[in-house]
Amino acid sequence: MFSDFNPESTGCKKLFDFQSAVLLTIINFWDLEFVIWDLLERIMKKADYDLVIIGGGPAGLTAGLYAARAKLNVILLEKFAPGGQVLITDWVENYPGFPEGITGADLVMKMAEQAKNFGLSIESDEVLSADISGPVKTINLNSKTITAHTIIIATGASPRKLGIPGEDTFFGKGVSSCATCDGPFFRDRVVAAVGGGDTAVQESIFLTKFAKKVYLIHRRDELRATGILRERALANDKIEFLWDSVLTRVDGLTNVEKITVRNVKTDETRELPADGCFIWIGIRPNSEFLGDTVKRDEFGFVVTDSDMRTSVPGVFAAGDVRSTPLRQIATAVGDAAIAAFSAEHYVATL
Ligand code: NDP
Repeated sequence: MFSDFNPESTGCKKLFDFQSAVLLTIINFWDLEFVIWDLLERIMKKADYDLVIIGGGPAGLTAGLYAARAKLNVILLEKFAPGGQVLITDWVENYPGFPEGITGADLVMKMAEQAKNFGLSIESDEVLSADISGPVKTINLNSKTITAHTIIIATGASPRKLGIPGEDTFFGKGVSSCATCDGPFFRDRVVAAVGGGDTAVQESIFLTKFAKKVYLIHRRDELRATGILRERALANDKIEFLWDSVLTRVDGLTNVEKITVRNVKTDETRELPADGCFIWIGIRPNSEFLGDTVKRDEFGFVVTDSDMRTSVPGVFAAGDVRSTPLRQIATAVGDAAIAAFSAEHYVATL
């Protein structure tokens, strides 16, 4: 701006020094004022909500119940309808308060009803992305963009895939991860189930209500599932265990007709006729929309402290999406109560 101006040649260098010092001070002050103003505006900006809960499984609904009772301005977002993974759990018998057991669908329906009774609003919308780094978090949904001072991530986890030939081709045509949804289609048929954890064992037992035979294919010779489930499965004569075995392919014309299984110890491969194939080899966290903003463990689960705080201030996590040694409905609701309590305290400090 002043590049053509030579103060030495005008003989008024002192005046120029003084003027430029004043000018620089004004510019610096202006800059500083702008930075401070911008910061204040960001801090003071009124967000649409105190708290946005993302996910409507047991964790999300419990956080919603606590937040609504704490009189926070809160909304719960769920892609379709509240429920999460529990919706596809046929029978829950380890959640306290239901001595006879309860279906997963009934349990989450009751949880949603209870939270709504205290004023929780639940909206069906999908979170596409979120900018959560600043004091006001921006959440981009399918239909609109909303802002919040705090977020509880309760997006849960989804079933993992094997990545074998036929798995995708026959998904919905015999390949499934939901016994509650698809089990009844296999009345008096033969089905296979893969996995050795609680899900595979519990759901295989459920499948025996319909199927005449269930091959339970497990890669080791010992089940990971909890004792009571192990005992029940081993005593069930409709379940045939294929130990030390992995499913290598699924074949058929329009629907599943046969599976191929390889014994990992002998390397022997055999084909077995089967009408369906359920894959229960664990879960992966639904945390992709977070990008790299929040600290996650090696498997992608969100890392929190004991107050459910993530690495980003104002962002909390609860339930299966969290890095935790035990994923149960009981642990999810415990996480969620703490997360809502922490969010309430965070909002109070703003
Ligand atoms: P888990 O991670 O507990 O078990 C996964 C199973 O799949 C393991 O047996 C594992 O084998 C096997 N597996 C993993 N990868 C492969 C692969 N590539 N090929 C073949 N087999 C594989 O997952 P679940 O879904 O069973 O359970 C998830 C969480 O939910 C757990 O914390 C569980 O306790 C909980 N849950 C609780 C229930 C309840 O309380 N009633 C019901 C259902 C789930 P390996 O053992 O060799 O690692």
